[in-house]
Amino acid sequence: MYIDLMNQLAITATLFFIGGKYFENRGLDINSTLMTKILAGIGAGFLGTLLMLSTIYVTETVIVDLRYLGMVIVAVAGGPVSALVAGLSIGLGRILIADVTISSLTALSVAITLGIVFGLISRLNINRFSKYLLMYSIQILVTCTILYNLIDEVTISKVVIFNYVPNAIIASFFSVYIAEYIFETNKNNRAVMYFKIMADNSIDLLTTHDIDGTFKYISPSSKKILGYYSEELLGKDPYNFYHPDDIAKIRKAHSDLLRSAVSNTIVYRFKRKDGVYIWLESTSKIMKSNLNNPIEIITSSRDITAKKEFEDTLLQSNNDLKKLSNLDGLTQISNRRHFDEVLEKEWKVSLRNNSPISLIMFDIDQFKKYNDTFGHQQGDNCIKEVARVSKSLLMRPNDFIARYGGEEFAVILPNTDKEGAKKLAEKIRLMIENTAIPLQNVKGDSFVTVSLGVATIVPTNTVHFTQLIEFSDTALYYAKNSGRNTLISIE
Ligand code: GH3
Ligand code: MG
Ligand code: MG
Repeated sequence: MYIDLMNQLAITATLFFIGGKYFENRGLDINSTLMTKILAGIGAGFLGTLLMLSTIYVTETVIVDLRYLGMVIVAVAGGPVSALVAGLSIGLGRILIADVTISSLTALSVAITLGIVFGLISRLNINRFSKYLLMYSIQILVTCTILYNLIDEVTISKVVIFNYVPNAIIASFFSVYIAEYIFETNKNNRAVMYFKIMADNSIDLLTTHDIDGTFKYISPSSKKILGYYSEELLGKDPYNFYHPDDIAKIRKAHSDLLRSAVSNTIVYRFKRKDGVYIWLESTSKIMKSNLNNPIEIITSSRDITAKKEFEDTLLQSNNDLKKLSNLDGLTQISNRRHFDEVLEKEWKVSLRNNSPISLIMFDIDQFKKYNDTFGHQQGDNCIKEVARVSKSLLMRPNDFIARYGGEEFAVILPNTDKEGAKKLAEKIRLMIENTAIPLQNVKGDSFVTVSLGVATIVPTNTVHFTQLIEFSDTALYYAKNSGRNTLISIE
């Protein structure tokens, strides 16, 4: 008897696998097409008919089969349509085998009724396993009831039930196990297939790597992006293609990925087949084994060369603009705006270092007269010359000169005490005087000079940096008042 059961299970398994293969690409679920559901039902009917042909002999005279095995499976997966078609097919199969008799018509109606009941159960809001359990239980109960009615002697029927029920239970579990395995495998295969289709058609470059980086899969877009056919890169070490300046960065991202296992994104240069470096932006993820060991790296890369070049020119023009906006158009030294920025910054540095900061403000003497004598154009040239000469006297990298306005200039001297500032101020005064720019047409009469105000402060939290401007401005005022071409300092 158990040999018969084995036969039935073998047929079931075989047909399940054939069916599974057939439905591999479409999958059977409640959203499948009507055709798929009907085909699945017919398949289950065919299996039922085959199972009827290879019946289990429970006793010498009583036979019993497992015709409903497949029907339950397609009912759970495909819903009412599959269930009903399966019921109908099983019923018709029974008639085909045994002609139109009372018992085969009864069997037909039982099959159709079960089809309806299974269809209804398939729509219940319970989990898959509960549906299997419910359907198989109902089916076994129905079969037992029929067997009781068919067989008069209670003893035999007991045998039937004690033999049939265990068989049916074993077969049910077997069917569910195999069917669910096939469903799961097909689902995974479809996922892999979809992934492959997506990877093969992706504009981005999709690659997988061994944990040491070796290429394992390269999507066809590699030809367009890298100039290589996928096969040319397969098994190669990508580190041979990276720009030498980027390798350290990539190695770090690589080891971070293996260690912390979160995804990361890096931007780096890759040498195309034609030898040209392109910029890639790559996001990588780690794939781990069941034992939580990293086994593979999955990377999606995008060619961002154009974007990168655009960013670079944007950055460059931004820098150019910034420089321009800091410069005074006439003298090409810094303007007032930049002066304010630098003074505030240097003030903070001096505050932190507890060091003195000095400011020299100087103004061309009697410039109105100069303009009146030589004209505005020449006046501009004079301002330019004073700027150039003064700037040439600044020695330290952080010394800073700006045109403060009109014919007035300001020199910021970080980390410079009063004596140092006065020394430089005197140098400027002397140098301008010695440059000997004539102030009047009368030869040998007088030259352009400047008056200077010097202030020095060691910043504290209670003093605002504008205090330094006020002090040197006042000093300059005194310098003008004391006859010009001189310097006054305040601290
Ligand atoms: P002092 O500073 O010695 O008291 O006399 P000053 O004649 O230089 O003083 P004031 O500030 O009254 O005059 C400054 C003159 O500088 C007025 C203005 O016409 C001239 N000036 C200001 N900016 C420019 C400029 O960019 N180009 C020219 N050519 N002249 C300018
Ligand atoms: Mg002046
Ligand atoms: Mg002035």
